[in-house]
Amino acid sequence: MLLITLGAVALGTGIWLYFLRRYDRIEPEALRYLLRVAALGGMMSIAVAAVLNEGFSRWLGLDTNLLANPDVVPLGKLFAFCLFAGFSEEICKAVAAVYSTRWVGDLDEPVDAMIYAMTVALGFAAVENVLYAQNYGNEVLLVRFLWPVPAHMCYAAVWGYGLAKARFIYPNKNRARVMWPYVTAAACLHAAANYGLLVQHTMASLASLSLLIGLGYLAHHRLEQLVSESPFLEPGECPSCRNLNSPRAVHCFYCGTPLQETEMFRICPSGKHRVAVGKTHCPECGLAMRPCNPHVVRQTPRS
Ligand SMILES: [Zn+2]
Ligand SMILES: [Zn+2]
Repeated sequence: MLLITLGAVALGTGIWLYFLRRYDRIEPEALRYLLRVAALGGMMSIAVAAVLNEGFSRWLGLDTNLLANPDVVPLGKLFAFCLFAGFSEEICKAVAAVYSTRWVGDLDEPVDAMIYAMTVALGFAAVENVLYAQNYGNEVLLVRFLWPVPAHMCYAAVWGYGLAKARFIYPNKNRARVMWPYVTAAACLHAAANYGLLVQHTMASLASLSLLIGLGYLAHHRLEQLVSESPFLEPGECPSCRNLNSPRAVHCFYCGTPLQETEMFRICPSGKHRVAVGKTHCPECGLAMRPCNPHVVRQTPRS
Protein backbone atom coordinates (compact mmCIF):
# COMPACT_ATOMS: atom_id res chain seq x y z
CA MET A 1 0.00 0.00 0.00
CA LEU A 2 2.69 2.48 1.03
CA LEU A 3 4.86 1.45 -1.93
CA ILE A 4 2.01 2.15 -4.38
CA THR A 5 1.42 5.53 -2.71
CA LEU A 6 5.10 6.44 -2.94
CA GLY A 7 5.28 5.32 -6.57
CA ALA A 8 2.16 7.31 -7.53
CA VAL A 9 3.40 10.43 -5.71
CA ALA A 10 6.84 10.13 -7.34
CA LEU A 11 5.20 9.80 -10.77
CA GLY A 12 2.88 12.80 -10.31
CA THR A 13 5.64 14.96 -8.85
CA GLY A 14 8.00 13.90 -11.66
CA ILE A 15 5.49 14.91 -14.33
CA TRP A 16 5.09 18.41 -12.82
CA LEU A 17 8.86 18.74 -12.38
CA TYR A 18 9.34 17.81 -16.04
CA PHE A 19 6.98 20.58 -17.18
CA LEU A 20 8.55 23.09 -14.80
CA ARG A 21 12.10 22.27 -15.88
CA ARG A 22 11.24 22.87 -19.55
CA TYR A 23 11.10 26.60 -18.75
CA ASP A 24 14.73 26.56 -17.58
CA ARG A 25 16.09 26.24 -21.10
CA ILE A 26 19.09 28.62 -21.23
CA GLU A 27 21.14 26.97 -18.51
CA PRO A 28 19.05 24.06 -17.18
CA GLU A 29 19.51 23.12 -13.54
CA ALA A 30 20.97 19.66 -12.98
CA LEU A 31 18.22 17.28 -11.90
CA ARG A 32 20.17 16.34 -8.77
CA TYR A 33 20.03 19.97 -7.53
CA LEU A 34 16.27 20.13 -8.11
CA LEU A 35 15.69 16.81 -6.35
CA ARG A 36 17.84 17.86 -3.38
CA VAL A 37 15.99 21.18 -3.06
CA ALA A 38 12.62 19.42 -3.41
CA ALA A 39 13.53 16.91 -0.70
CA LEU A 40 15.26 19.25 1.75
CA GLY A 41 13.04 22.30 1.17
CA GLY A 42 9.85 20.24 1.07
CA MET A 43 10.63 18.34 4.29
CA MET A 44 11.77 21.43 6.21
CA SER A 45 8.75 23.50 5.23
CA ILE A 46 6.05 20.89 5.77
CA ALA A 47 7.46 19.76 9.11
CA VAL A 48 7.26 23.28 10.56
CA ALA A 49 4.00 24.25 8.82
CA ALA A 50 2.24 21.05 9.95
CA VAL A 51 3.14 21.70 13.61
CA LEU A 52 2.02 25.34 13.36
CA ASN A 53 -1.28 24.49 11.62
CA GLU A 54 -2.04 21.72 14.10
CA GLY A 55 -1.31 24.02 17.05
CA PHE A 56 -3.50 26.78 15.63
CA SER A 57 -6.47 24.52 14.88
CA ARG A 58 -6.30 23.13 18.43
CA TRP A 59 -6.14 26.66 19.81
CA LEU A 60 -9.29 27.46 17.78
CA GLY A 61 -10.88 24.37 19.30
CA LEU A 62 -11.34 22.72 15.91
CA ASP A 63 -11.39 19.02 15.22
CA THR A 64 -7.89 17.98 14.09
CA ASN A 65 -9.54 16.35 11.08
CA LEU A 66 -10.90 19.71 9.90
CA LEU A 67 -10.59 19.03 6.18
CA ALA A 68 -12.60 15.79 6.32
CA ASN A 69 -15.84 17.60 7.22
CA PRO A 70 -15.44 21.37 6.76
CA ASP A 71 -19.22 21.91 6.58
CA VAL A 72 -19.61 21.57 10.36
CA VAL A 73 -16.97 24.23 11.11
CA PRO A 74 -18.22 27.80 11.81
CA LEU A 75 -17.29 30.04 8.84
CA GLY A 76 -15.36 32.54 10.99
CA LYS A 77 -13.14 29.82 12.38
CA LEU A 78 -12.75 28.27 8.94
CA PHE A 79 -11.61 31.65 7.58
CA ALA A 80 -9.17 32.15 10.47
CA PHE A 81 -7.74 28.70 9.89
CA CYS A 82 -7.35 29.27 6.11
CA LEU A 83 -5.63 32.60 6.71
CA PHE A 84 -3.27 31.12 9.29
CA ALA A 85 -2.44 28.09 7.13
CA GLY A 86 -1.85 30.32 4.09
CA PHE A 87 0.71 32.38 5.99
CA SER A 88 2.36 29.48 7.82
CA GLU A 89 2.74 27.39 4.65
CA GLU A 90 3.96 30.18 2.37
CA ILE A 91 6.40 31.59 4.97
CA CYS A 92 7.79 28.09 5.70
CA LYS A 93 8.16 27.32 1.99
CA ALA A 94 9.84 30.68 1.27
CA VAL A 95 12.31 30.36 4.17
CA ALA A 96 13.03 26.75 3.16
CA ALA A 97 13.62 27.85 -0.46
CA VAL A 98 16.06 30.61 0.55
CA TYR A 99 18.14 28.22 2.67
CA SER A 100 17.87 25.04 0.61
CA THR A 101 18.99 26.85 -2.57
CA ARG A 102 21.89 28.35 -0.62
CA TRP A 103 22.96 24.96 0.77
CA VAL A 104 22.24 22.47 -2.01
CA GLY A 105 21.11 24.48 -5.06
CA ASP A 106 22.79 26.48 -7.79
CA LEU A 107 20.81 29.71 -8.14
CA ASP A 108 22.68 31.56 -10.89
CA GLU A 109 19.89 32.83 -13.19
CA PRO A 110 16.77 34.85 -12.28
CA VAL A 111 14.49 32.10 -13.57
CA ASP A 112 16.20 29.62 -11.21
CA ALA A 113 14.66 31.50 -8.27
CA MET A 114 11.17 30.69 -9.53
CA ILE A 115 12.15 27.16 -10.58
CA TYR A 116 13.56 26.39 -7.12
CA ALA A 117 10.64 28.09 -5.34
CA MET A 118 8.16 25.96 -7.28
CA THR A 119 10.35 22.87 -6.70
CA VAL A 120 10.14 23.42 -2.92
CA ALA A 121 6.36 23.67 -3.35
CA LEU A 122 6.42 20.36 -5.25
CA GLY A 123 8.42 18.74 -2.42
CA PHE A 124 5.96 20.17 0.12
CA ALA A 125 2.96 18.92 -1.86
CA ALA A 126 4.58 15.49 -2.36
CA VAL A 127 4.92 14.92 1.39
CA GLU A 128 1.41 16.30 1.93
CA ASN A 129 0.07 13.88 -0.70
CA VAL A 130 1.70 10.88 0.98
CA LEU A 131 0.05 11.91 4.27
CA TYR A 132 -3.33 12.39 2.57
CA ALA A 133 -3.13 9.03 0.83
CA GLN A 134 -2.32 7.38 4.15
CA ASN A 135 -5.45 8.94 5.69
CA TYR A 136 -7.94 8.80 2.82
CA GLY A 137 -6.57 6.15 0.43
CA ASN A 138 -4.71 6.38 -2.88
CA GLU A 139 -7.90 7.44 -4.72
CA VAL A 140 -7.37 11.04 -3.57
CA LEU A 141 -4.02 11.28 -5.35
CA LEU A 142 -5.27 11.91 -8.90
CA VAL A 143 -7.42 14.84 -7.83
CA ARG A 144 -4.63 16.18 -5.66
CA PHE A 145 -2.22 16.23 -8.60
CA LEU A 146 -4.76 18.25 -10.59
CA TRP A 147 -5.60 20.80 -7.92
CA PRO A 148 -3.54 21.31 -4.73
CA VAL A 149 -0.19 20.47 -6.35
CA PRO A 150 -0.30 23.07 -9.17
CA ALA A 151 -1.91 25.48 -6.68
CA HIS A 152 1.09 25.13 -4.35
CA MET A 153 3.40 25.74 -7.33
CA CYS A 154 1.45 28.86 -8.33
CA TYR A 155 1.63 30.41 -4.85
CA ALA A 156 5.36 29.67 -4.73
CA ALA A 157 5.74 31.32 -8.15
CA VAL A 158 4.52 34.60 -6.59
CA TRP A 159 7.29 34.79 -3.99
CA GLY A 160 9.75 32.98 -6.28
CA TYR A 161 9.63 36.10 -8.43
CA GLY A 162 10.36 38.10 -5.26
CA LEU A 163 13.34 35.82 -4.59
CA ALA A 164 14.66 36.53 -8.12
CA LYS A 165 14.40 40.28 -7.41
CA ALA A 166 16.07 39.89 -4.01
CA ARG A 167 18.93 37.91 -5.49
CA PHE A 168 19.57 39.88 -8.70
CA ILE A 169 18.25 43.43 -8.23
CA TYR A 170 18.80 43.96 -4.50
CA PRO A 171 21.64 41.53 -3.63
CA ASN A 172 22.79 43.72 -0.73
CA LYS A 173 19.39 44.06 0.91
CA ASN A 174 17.97 41.64 3.46
CA ARG A 175 16.10 38.84 1.62
CA ALA A 176 13.14 39.00 3.99
CA ARG A 177 12.75 42.77 3.44
CA VAL A 178 12.55 42.37 -0.33
CA MET A 179 10.42 39.23 -0.27
CA TRP A 180 7.77 39.96 2.36
CA PRO A 181 5.24 41.70 0.05
CA TYR A 182 5.40 38.73 -2.34
CA VAL A 183 5.08 36.18 0.48
CA THR A 184 2.12 38.13 1.92
CA ALA A 185 0.41 38.20 -1.49
CA ALA A 186 0.97 34.45 -1.96
CA ALA A 187 -0.35 33.71 1.56
CA CYS A 188 -3.54 35.77 1.00
CA LEU A 189 -4.16 34.13 -2.39
CA HIS A 190 -3.56 30.71 -0.84
CA ALA A 191 -5.98 31.48 2.00
CA ALA A 192 -8.64 32.83 -0.38
CA ALA A 193 -8.39 29.82 -2.72
CA ASN A 194 -8.63 27.31 0.15
CA TYR A 195 -11.52 29.15 1.79
CA GLY A 196 -13.34 29.28 -1.56
CA LEU A 197 -13.12 25.50 -1.81
CA LEU A 198 -13.86 24.68 1.83
CA VAL A 199 -17.07 26.73 2.13
CA GLN A 200 -18.53 24.27 -0.40
CA HIS A 201 -20.53 26.73 -2.44
CA THR A 202 -20.54 26.45 -6.25
CA MET A 203 -19.76 30.13 -6.88
CA ALA A 204 -16.96 30.10 -4.31
CA SER A 205 -15.46 26.98 -5.87
CA LEU A 206 -15.61 28.55 -9.32
CA ALA A 207 -13.96 31.73 -8.00
CA SER A 208 -11.25 29.60 -6.41
CA LEU A 209 -10.66 27.73 -9.66
CA SER A 210 -10.54 30.97 -11.70
CA LEU A 211 -8.00 32.33 -9.24
CA LEU A 212 -5.79 29.30 -9.83
CA ILE A 213 -6.06 29.62 -13.62
CA GLY A 214 -5.15 33.32 -13.40
CA LEU A 215 -2.17 32.54 -11.18
CA GLY A 216 -1.05 29.77 -13.54
CA TYR A 217 -1.11 32.22 -16.45
CA LEU A 218 0.84 34.78 -14.42
CA ALA A 219 3.43 32.15 -13.39
CA HIS A 220 3.89 31.12 -17.05
CA HIS A 221 4.37 34.75 -18.07
CA ARG A 222 6.85 35.48 -15.24
CA LEU A 223 8.87 32.33 -16.01
CA GLU A 224 9.14 33.36 -19.66
CA GLN A 225 10.15 36.89 -18.64
CA LEU A 226 12.86 35.66 -16.28
CA VAL A 227 14.23 33.19 -18.84
CA SER A 228 14.98 36.20 -21.06
CA GLU A 229 16.92 37.77 -18.14
CA SER A 230 19.50 34.98 -18.06
CA PRO A 231 23.08 36.23 -17.63
CA PHE A 232 24.12 33.26 -19.81
CA LEU A 233 22.58 34.89 -22.88
CA GLU A 234 25.02 36.85 -25.04
CA PRO A 235 24.02 40.50 -25.61
CA GLY A 236 21.53 40.36 -28.48
CA GLU A 237 21.01 36.60 -28.18
CA CYS A 238 17.35 35.68 -28.56
CA PRO A 239 15.97 33.74 -25.55
CA SER A 240 13.50 31.90 -27.80
CA CYS A 241 15.48 30.77 -30.86
CA ARG A 242 19.02 31.44 -29.47
CA ASN A 243 20.11 33.24 -32.65
CA LEU A 244 22.51 36.18 -32.26
CA ASN A 245 21.29 39.67 -33.12
CA SER A 246 23.02 43.04 -32.77
CA PRO A 247 23.20 44.02 -29.05
CA ARG A 248 20.98 47.00 -29.87
CA ALA A 249 18.30 44.97 -31.67
CA VAL A 250 14.78 45.68 -30.46
CA HIS A 251 13.31 42.46 -31.85
CA CYS A 252 14.87 39.16 -32.82
CA PHE A 253 15.53 39.25 -36.57
CA TYR A 254 14.79 35.51 -36.83
CA CYS A 255 11.64 34.99 -34.74
CA GLY A 256 10.42 38.47 -33.75
CA THR A 257 10.76 38.02 -29.96
CA PRO A 258 11.20 41.43 -28.23
CA LEU A 259 14.79 41.75 -26.95
CA GLN A 260 15.15 45.16 -25.32
CA GLU A 261 13.12 44.96 -22.14
CA THR A 262 15.19 43.72 -19.27
CA GLU A 263 14.85 44.47 -15.61
CA MET A 264 17.75 42.63 -14.01
CA PHE A 265 20.64 42.88 -16.48
CA ARG A 266 22.10 45.64 -18.62
CA ILE A 267 24.66 45.49 -21.37
CA CYS A 268 28.06 46.95 -20.49
CA PRO A 269 29.45 49.90 -22.51
CA SER A 270 31.66 47.52 -24.54
CA GLY A 271 28.47 45.87 -25.83
CA LYS A 272 29.89 42.43 -25.02
CA HIS A 273 28.69 41.55 -21.53
CA ARG A 274 25.50 41.32 -19.51
CA VAL A 275 25.89 42.94 -16.09
CA ALA A 276 23.50 42.73 -13.12
CA VAL A 277 21.76 46.08 -12.46
CA GLY A 278 23.24 46.34 -8.95
CA LYS A 279 26.85 46.42 -10.25
CA THR A 280 28.68 49.73 -10.75
CA HIS A 281 31.36 48.20 -13.02
CA CYS A 282 31.34 45.37 -15.54
CA PRO A 283 33.00 42.37 -13.81
CA GLU A 284 34.34 41.16 -17.19
CA CYS A 285 35.98 44.27 -18.67
CA GLY A 286 35.93 46.74 -15.73
CA LEU A 287 34.11 49.52 -17.61
CA ALA A 288 31.91 51.74 -15.43
CA MET A 289 28.18 51.11 -15.79
CA ARG A 290 25.90 54.10 -16.06
CA PRO A 291 23.92 54.51 -12.80
CA CYS A 292 20.36 53.41 -13.34
CA ASN A 293 17.07 53.03 -11.62
CA PRO A 294 16.16 49.33 -11.53
CA HIS A 295 12.50 50.25 -11.89
CA VAL A 296 13.17 51.61 -15.38
CA VAL A 297 12.84 48.46 -17.42
CA ARG A 298 13.80 49.82 -20.82
CA GLN A 299 17.50 49.79 -21.63
CA THR A 300 18.99 53.15 -22.51
CA PRO A 301 20.65 52.97 -25.95
CA ARG A 302 24.43 52.95 -25.77
CA SER A 303 26.18 56.14 -26.92
ZN1 LIG B 1 14.54 34.63 -31.95
ZN1 LIG C 1 32.03 44.43 -20.04
